[in-house]
Amino acid sequence: MSLDVEKIRRDFPILSRTFAGKPLVYLDSAATSHKPSVVIEAEADFYRLHNANAHRGIYTLGEEATEAFEQARATIAGFLGATDPARLVFTRGTTEAINLVALGWARPRLGSGDVIVLTEMEHHSNIVPWQLAANATGATLRYIGLTDDGRLDLPANLGSLFDDRTKVLAVTAVSNALGTINDVRALADAAHGAGAIVVVDGAQAAPHMPIDVDAIGADFFAFSGHKMLGPTASGGLIGTRERLEEMEPVFGGGDMIREVFRDHSTWNDVPFRFEAGTMQVAQQVGLARAVRYLQALGMQDVRAHEAELTRYAIDRLDAAGARVFGPESTTIHGGAVAFSYRDVHPHDLAQILNEDAVCIRAGHHCAQLVMRRYGTPATSRASFSVFNTLEEIDVLVDAVQKAGEVFAV
Ligand code: PLP
Repeated sequence: MSLDVEKIRRDFPILSRTFAGKPLVYLDSAATSHKPSVVIEAEADFYRLHNANAHRGIYTLGEEATEAFEQARATIAGFLGATDPARLVFTRGTTEAINLVALGWARPRLGSGDVIVLTEMEHHSNIVPWQLAANATGATLRYIGLTDDGRLDLPANLGSLFDDRTKVLAVTAVSNALGTINDVRALADAAHGAGAIVVVDGAQAAPHMPIDVDAIGADFFAFSGHKMLGPTASGGLIGTRERLEEMEPVFGGGDMIREVFRDHSTWNDVPFRFEAGTMQVAQQVGLARAVRYLQALGMQDVRAHEAELTRYAIDRLDAAGARVFGPESTTIHGGAVAFSYRDVHPHDLAQILNEDAVCIRAGHHCAQLVMRRYGTPATSRASFSVFNTLEEIDVLVDAVQKAGEVFAV
């Protein structure tokens, strides 16, 4: 194992919980991850010692709050490869970040005949905002399909996916429903070649692997703090300076303005013009602490650990007779393993697993296009984080087999 998991597990207080005498086996970090004590303490310390509204009070306490918030911005932006902190707009997470781009950048620019390219493996939060934008502007949506083994079905010449009417490519770096890791850079180069911008859904990538937003060619990169050991309602949108300057404000209110007149206003600088009203100060401070925790583990090692868990899970589930979705190779399969088992409905399976305190997700995973593509209404999904062990996967597979017996016809 590339990480000292026993030591890591002691950092997560919730892992000491038991359910009906059984230790918690949490395999749902793709939905939301648990938080180490240092993150819980960082958020509590902010409230305990530094709480005031950011960017408002000129008293010392207010300056401390502002400083903590802006320091968090620099830490989080730097973690994702943006050395200029002003490139990070804080949001409540990925959904809000993608909606911000669709509303603030795309809608004012798109018109009839323009094209938004998506993929069939997108989470609904990287589909529906684009449908709304298309409906409002007359633009059309075009989808990149999927192969039987859960990869993007790409032509040899990626340039053929885009033409001069393509304005946006919106693509996930890692699929939450299939685990697939996409070669975003190759797609981004082709999209840029046609003059389109590239919006990357980084919700399942930022927690699990080293990310450099510029190296992957993202004009915009959206991520959720609560999936990367941070508090709920933390996360953000990283953009290039150029694209952020082009983007219109979406929410109006306090702090996003420079001057307000009776009939119009002028805007504050990027990124503040996109941060109307009181922000998630304590949560983003907590996320910065989560980022420092991940940095101390080393993102290469985090990725290696989760790849080992994924390999083991795929092999054991295969051997147990489950149908595993997504790529076979863990070089392109991140730490989310979706599967179905015999004729057991995923909800029944999840319920039986709960009797052994095993938490997995069952359903369409907010990716109904994926479910349609593979002809199933739902799958079961085990997803991993830094605190998971091979033994927990044994517990999972044993419980899955037990469920198979319960529901055998
Ligand atoms: N995109 C992907 C790939 C996801 O997995 C998720 C959440 O599961 C989201 C977007 C939405 O994230 P949030 O609910 O944090 O906004």
